[in-house]
Amino acid sequence: MTQQQQADAIVVGAGLAGLVATYELTRAGRKVIVVDQENRNNLGGQAFWSLGGLFLVDTPEQRRLGIHDSAELALQDWMGSAGFDRDDEDYWPRQWARAYVDFAATEKRQYLHDLGLRAPLVGWAERGGGFADGHGNSVPRFHLTWGTGPEVVRIFAEPVLDAERRGLVEFRFRHRVDDIVVEDDMAVGVRGALLEPTDLERGKASGREVVGDFEIRAGAVVLTTGGIGHNHDLIRENWPVERLGPAPKTMIAGVPAHVDGRMLGIAEDAGASLVNRDRMWHYTEGIINWDPIWPNHAIRIIPGPSSIWLDANGDRLAPPNFPGFDTNSTMKAILATGHDYSWFILTQSIIEKEFMLSGSEQNPDLTRKDLKFAAKSRLAKGAPGPVAAFVEHGEDFVVADNLAELVHGMNKITRGPQLDLQKVERIISARDANVDNKFSKDAQLMAITNARQYLGDKVARVAKPHKILDPEHGPLIAVRLNILTRKTLGGLETNLDSAVMRPDGSVFEGLYAAGEVAGFGGGGVHGYNALEGTFLGGCIFSGRVAGRAIARK
Ligand SMILES: Cc1cc2nc3c(=O)[nH]c(=O)nc-3n(C[C@H](O)[C@H](O)[C@H](O)COP(=O)(O)OP(=O)(O)OC[C@H]3O[C@@H](n4cnc5c(N)ncnc54)[C@H](O)[C@@H]3O)c2cc1C
Repeated sequence: MTQQQQADAIVVGAGLAGLVATYELTRAGRKVIVVDQENRNNLGGQAFWSLGGLFLVDTPEQRRLGIHDSAELALQDWMGSAGFDRDDEDYWPRQWARAYVDFAATEKRQYLHDLGLRAPLVGWAERGGGFADGHGNSVPRFHLTWGTGPEVVRIFAEPVLDAERRGLVEFRFRHRVDDIVVEDDMAVGVRGALLEPTDLERGKASGREVVGDFEIRAGAVVLTTGGIGHNHDLIRENWPVERLGPAPKTMIAGVPAHVDGRMLGIAEDAGASLVNRDRMWHYTEGIINWDPIWPNHAIRIIPGPSSIWLDANGDRLAPPNFPGFDTNSTMKAILATGHDYSWFILTQSIIEKEFMLSGSEQNPDLTRKDLKFAAKSRLAKGAPGPVAAFVEHGEDFVVADNLAELVHGMNKITRGPQLDLQKVERIISARDANVDNKFSKDAQLMAITNARQYLGDKVARVAKPHKILDPEHGPLIAVRLNILTRKTLGGLETNLDSAVMRPDGSVFEGLYAAGEVAGFGGGGVHGYNALEGTFLGGCIFSGRVAGRAIARK
């Protein structure tokens, strides 16, 4: 440290990636100043709200459930999903992808295990586009953290708070970074605005009134400021119209207001290379939160495969666009109608077994690590409490005893064309006529049968095939599904040390980036598509790399 430097490193952003980088730096005895525009209540950022799903490969938990996985299969799936096709912009992301899949198949589980995290349940997310070498997970790999997002945060926050007590870490909350201080082509610090103090609860949108300014200098600057998910202007500006169709008119926000994407522009202005900005990961199964925490708060349904999925015109989505299979392909199909919403039609039996809501607060049993409560709410009759509350209060839900009433209710909340009852009835009856045999020509029913070959799905996630119009399984439920904004797949280009690159391919000395702001590594480790559970893991891997690289200097 020189005289001017107040710490070995400044970490901008106290979300998961920032905490991991800080943890690694303090383990090596380095002094860190952590700066965040929000208050201390928000420590951990988005990760606190997350479900805690983690992409892990070839684990004892998978083996126990009869899943054969391997690093080779995972890499095949990753590359098939990523579809890297850009010589320049995908140079580092390709290398990050290999390194990250290797981490997920080797050290990752032990690293987290040593810190006290357990992830015993294995779900099958993003089942894919239909071809073995294309998009999707060939096997279940979505390991659910016991304790969900708060537990992922806890295992890094606790040692960092301990380091704070020992004087190695200093937090500066309500400090918004507006500029990176660059001298002799090297990042030497940050400057910005002091925001008015607040004691608002976690997740609430805070004020932006400026009460002062600041400048801090250190040996290195690490940007861990998250993505653009709450900034719908920036999302529209970068929306890949030629790939997915026009940007949705109505979008609901799957992330808190602090996920504002400002730092991407600030870093670019300072000379950083920003790549793959048109790659994003938003969901098509968004529902409006009846009990919101942040503005325009949306919740994602993580669906099992059985709901009938209709577009805004009432046409059934074509394979592989079944619930939970291929997010981007489904997005494209929905937007191709000229509307920005779609419909699930399902039964009470399906909702009880198949609806999971993404978010720590939507899964109090898992978040509180309450085994008894979890067994009761997941396996007993009736939908889990938070799901039932949405059915009762959510403005996107319609419940009815027969199809005519259901379609009438859907037509009352539609944002587009009125649905034709006869057409909907024809589609569902044709599908129902394929349920009488164990085999079928209906691709969705085939997929359901296949899913139930996996024990985890059969027990907890996929309803036994039944006729949608069978009153025994009623009442009927319809859900209006909105586009929910969440993840930024592109970002600041970084090398395998998480050092930020300049557009000319040289290293931006002194500047590092990790987590979502760096496209979870490299400026876009996912390419075009994610395999899920890869975001928390991407923050952990890239934050760890950044912390260790700076500590080595
Ligand atoms: C509801 C929900 C469920 C999710 N579920 C999963 C899941 O199951 N599995 C998975 O892998 N991923 C999941 N994710 C995604 C994952 O949680 C995020 O991608 C990840 O936590 C991002 O972490 P981060 O540290 O990069 O950024 P963030 O958590 O966004 O933290 C960035 C921090 O930087 C601060 N900041 C930003 N700009 C500035 C500035 N200019 N000055 C100072 N401070 C600034 C912000 O205030 C914030 O505290 C979920 C996300 C949500 C919201």
